[in-house]
Amino acid sequence: MTADPVSASPSSHLMPTYAPAPVTFVRGEGSYLWDSEGRRYVDFLSGLAVTSLGHAHPAVAEALCQASGTLLHASNLFKTLPGEEVASTLDRLLGGGGLVFFSNSGAEANECAIKLARKWGGPGRYGVVSAYGSFHGRTLATLHATGQPAKHEAFQPLPEGFRHVAWRDLDALERAITPEVAAVLLEPVQGEGGVWPAGREYFAGVRKLCDERGVLFMVDEVQTGLGRTGRWWGFEHYGARPDVVTVAKALGNGVPVGACWARREVAEAFRPGDHGSTFGGQPLAASAARATLRVMEELDVPSLAAARGAYLAERLEGMSGVASVRGLGLLLGAELSGGNAREVASRCLEQGLIVNAVTATALRLEPPLLVGEEQIDEGTAILEKALGQP
Ligand SMILES: *Cc1c(COP(=O)(O)O)cnc(C)c1O
Repeated sequence: MTADPVSASPSSHLMPTYAPAPVTFVRGEGSYLWDSEGRRYVDFLSGLAVTSLGHAHPAVAEALCQASGTLLHASNLFKTLPGEEVASTLDRLLGGGGLVFFSNSGAEANECAIKLARKWGGPGRYGVVSAYGSFHGRTLATLHATGQPAKHEAFQPLPEGFRHVAWRDLDALERAITPEVAAVLLEPVQGEGGVWPAGREYFAGVRKLCDERGVLFMVDEVQTGLGRTGRWWGFEHYGARPDVVTVAKALGNGVPVGACWARREVAEAFRPGDHGSTFGGQPLAASAARATLRVMEELDVPSLAAARGAYLAERLEGMSGVASVRGLGLLLGAELSGGNAREVASRCLEQGLIVNAVTATALRLEPPLLVGEEQIDEGTAILEKALGQP
């Protein structure tokens, strides 16, 4: 066989959907990871905005041990603990008046939102409008909601009922809301698309438009939610309250759990049998989420993210090789003034820093929300060195 860089490694039995970096992580603690050779890395990625409390947080570890020795799973045909508590906390953090469905991932949380919009919309009202550059997941429906046509090509035909408009273009959105549209789905900051904040004016305009046209404003907080942006929710920066909110990544601090929240009047469009998930909200996942949310509230992680995010942004802004910095809180994008972001990210990895090349020319930085200034100094020193190399 010829050496084909896109074929699966001959020694791996994993499908070649990822091209993993040549590092095997075996342990984590707080803002650090260790590889199989014992090398330590500063983690400015948090498993893609997942481990917001850092790796191996003792409260989450303790909750998992407790749950696994008590009851992992009994199915949603029965009531279990502590899903109710997690749902009530999420509802309170979202301003109250809503109901929650638990999923196992961000894509599934969005699937729930899309199905809910269709059920709420009723016959003939099924459309979802989202933005170019967005990311909403990899299932067939959420892939179509994802406004990146190149990702669609190989998987046509995709489920119908999705339409995309230019990001931050209110006029385009207005034209796209035709009578068959039930909902608008947007991220407060486009994460996978390159770290592009929506802005107050846009979100306020979307809210007004959705009210005028009687369609749902659904906000995908899978990456931005739970303190990452310096507020509990990204939409809070813009003062616009959505009808539906999806959350996942940080909710279990590494344990797969997601949720779809909706205003009660909207959520009640679902009847028993309309939607479901074998694992969704099971005691193991809900225990992790409960522990994560308790620590997040105790430590007030949004204010930590705001303070540390400002510190990190300041470091980046003064760095030669960085043209501009964008984002909110600890969800930052650094546009490089020259050089290839992927090469810079791999040089960082070689030197003990994990960052993500979110576009060809920009790095994404999303450290744990509990990151210390010391670790920010350590990480940015590595980045500065990597940027200075030819
Ligand atoms: C990561 C992400 C998703 C998909 O979440 P999965 O858990 O990978 O399914 C959806 N929306 C946004 C905004 C994301 O960042």
